[in-house]
Amino acid sequence: MKIFCIGRNYADHAKELNNPIPESPLVFMKPPTALLIKNRHFFYPELSNDIHYEGEVVLKIGKNGRHIQPEFALSYIEGVGFGIDFTARDLQQKCKEKGHPWEIAKGFDHSAPISEFVPFEGLDPQNINVVTKLNGTVVQDGNTKDLLFSFQDIIVYLSKYFTLQMGDYIFTGTPAGVGPIKIGDRIEGFINSEKMLKCDVM
Ligand code: ZN
Repeated sequence: MKIFCIGRNYADHAKELNNPIPESPLVFMKPPTALLIKNRHFFYPELSNDIHYEGEVVLKIGKNGRHIQPEFALSYIEGVGFGIDFTARDLQQKCKEKGHPWEIAKGFDHSAPISEFVPFEGLDPQNINVVTKLNGTVVQDGNTKDLLFSFQDIIVYLSKYFTLQMGDYIFTGTPAGVGPIKIGDRIEGFINSEKMLKCDVM
């Protein structure tokens, strides 16, 4: 199982971090040990003093494929869920300054809480609302209509480089409103107004 992530896929989020808008999908990965399932608690790790939440729509891949053509791309999506791409912003900043890869800032243990999945069938890929609440307050409110690279674009692009396999996950990028967490916080994630995920920071 692989966990793909797309960075800077909403223009308003790229802007809030003063990043340029990418010309092709910005891809990175998290290892399977990053997963945190079943609404388990997130224990704030010692590796960082500035961990940020990034609430995202996550796709679950339902069949294997490579070099997927655009007209078939959406048929590879089995389910849609909510995930948090926890990011050690302090480590990421150091990596960026040195031009180093991001893995230690993005792929540490339990940096990828993921909800259960709802079937993709019947959803409009260009109109999925994704909301993150922090301690009951809405901090992110995005819609996949604002994605720079659509689900279709992402699957076509990834499958040029990697065989997509059943059970793989794709974090599709975060809208504006990311911010730091602290011990005692509760993060909740919603897809189309349905509560999908709860994550308490311990
Ligand atoms: Zn992200």
